[in-house]
Amino acid sequence: MSADQGGGKRLSLLGSTGSIGEQTLDVVRAFPERFSVGALAAGTQVEKLAAQVREFRPDLVSVGSEAGRKELAERLGAGAPEIVVGAAGLVSVAEHESDLVVAGLVGAVGLAPTLAAIRAGRDVALANKEVLVMAGALVLREVKAKGVTLFPVDSEHSAIFQALADNRPSDIARIVLTASGGPFRTWPAERIRTASVAEALAHPNWDMGKKISIDSATLTNKGLEVIEARWLFDVGPDQIGVVVHPQSIVHSLVEYRDGSVIAQMGLPDMRVPIALALSHPERLPLGLPPLDLPALAKLDFEEPDLERFPSLGLAFDALRGGEAAPAVFNAANECSVAAFLAGEIPFPAIADTNARVLMRFLDESSGAVGSLEEVLEADAWARREAAAVLGASHRQERSTA
Ligand code: MG
Repeated sequence: MSADQGGGKRLSLLGSTGSIGEQTLDVVRAFPERFSVGALAAGTQVEKLAAQVREFRPDLVSVGSEAGRKELAERLGAGAPEIVVGAAGLVSVAEHESDLVVAGLVGAVGLAPTLAAIRAGRDVALANKEVLVMAGALVLREVKAKGVTLFPVDSEHSAIFQALADNRPSDIARIVLTASGGPFRTWPAERIRTASVAEALAHPNWDMGKKISIDSATLTNKGLEVIEARWLFDVGPDQIGVVVHPQSIVHSLVEYRDGSVIAQMGLPDMRVPIALALSHPERLPLGLPPLDLPALAKLDFEEPDLERFPSLGLAFDALRGGEAAPAVFNAANECSVAAFLAGEIPFPAIADTNARVLMRFLDESSGAVGSLEEVLEADAWARREAAAVLGASHRQERSTA
């Protein structure tokens, strides 16, 4: 290792210019003696990626396209590290020699590289929840076979991981995920029907990327997290609950069979679960303000409303619908969220599209998922179905407009 590479744990980052990637690099920047960056992968934000390469000096970088590779090489000049491209580039970054791979991509694109990291024997800090939603059984089989560790980065799953600590899995009665309720928690259904993209993106507590912000507004994000929890903690759908907690201070809870409930609390700041995934079992002094309970005065909890937010219920249907159904639900949701962000469909059409595609799948298909190819097949089927549903509803929108 050369002198300018820094010391400590060597990281590879998938999704370095996204919200999780940037906050991971904040942690690395604050603790240069503990962490260094061996490889970075991003998609289209080449200027931001170039700045990260100059600052963190990785020896491998991946960018989304050939045009991006050229632009990055020009921006970096003679000092450029090796640059790889596209889906194969993501896999190269995942397999690059490292102590920990931070899986910070969003959506299905992260599945193959995260599996590659596990198969290469790397520990993974997992923020990319769709990896477990799409292929939880398959991924966990590989994790066991390789003896690697998955550290949850999602704040709820980090909370559960902490609340489990040294307790015995057989003593768990129930896992309860908290949900902020999103920006439409108090909105009546009629108002939600005409919600704009900007209103849906305005999350009350968390600073996140666009896709996950829309998922929070529909409560789909919580549904995906229910599926993620099923695999991370090996609990059945009946052992997972969701409670709306608008302050986002209690990040999730574990109920034990003796009636004890252990919760993890803290300010809503993603750097906390990211830093813990990077440094576990040590906790780093992040310099955040202390949690001031008297200033908060009270914490509220309520039942989620499955009528205004039907996508949460769909996630449970998917979880009970066999191994491929969550992949179908996830793919349909990626398509419907993209259509909403593009201004093509109204807000309720997101959950509606997800429901139609999932129900069609559950009517026609079943069975276990043995391979990555089968998962990707289910994903592709759902995208075709979603495109058909979205095309039809888009045409209808226009004709009635
Ligand atoms: Mg979360």
